[in-house]
Amino acid sequence: MLLFGHVGLTIGLARALSREVDVRWVAVASLLPDIIDKPLRYCIAPAFTQSNTRTVGHSLTAIVVSMVVVLLLRRTIRGAGGVALVLPLHLLLDGMWGPDLRVSLLWPWAGNGFPPLHEVGLPGLWNHLVHDLCDSVNLAGELGGMLVLGYLWRWCGLASAARRVHVWKTGMLVPVPEHTKALQEQADNF
Ligand SMILES: [Zn+2]
Repeated sequence: MLLFGHVGLTIGLARALSREVDVRWVAVASLLPDIIDKPLRYCIAPAFTQSNTRTVGHSLTAIVVSMVVVLLLRRTIRGAGGVALVLPLHLLLDGMWGPDLRVSLLWPWAGNGFPPLHEVGLPGLWNHLVHDLCDSVNLAGELGGMLVLGYLWRWCGLASAARRVHVWKTGMLVPVPEHTKALQEQADNF
């Protein structure tokens, strides 16, 4: 799955579970496996990853370690329990149970023999993107994520710059109060 599926669906679930959760951390958690694996693949250790974009960060071990770290940082991360709880969602949305992904999922316990991907340079990246977008499950996930983000955008009145800054500074997704909504509707009707 790509960007919107991960970010949208994970933030939607976390916000449904807890109104206190810091959505800035949830956004990072939703993409954490890719934040680890993409630099590994493209910059740090391409030979180790065999050009595979789902390796160390997409392992159960990395997710469990991340959950423990988030819980240890509970004084810093508001709603740390919610953030930890949605961390495994990335693996679920990526369908990491497939047989060709088992080495990555069970890393390091199943060794480092990641199935090689021969996607080189920009054409390789482009092929990867097109392949993802042609997959109906991936596409449904992306559209679902966009829908959730669109809903949250309206629900929290994020067309207002002041409300966007509030989310950026606090990580709180606060719905527009009913009376403000009514006033806005009145103004729109004039
Ligand atoms: Zn991923």
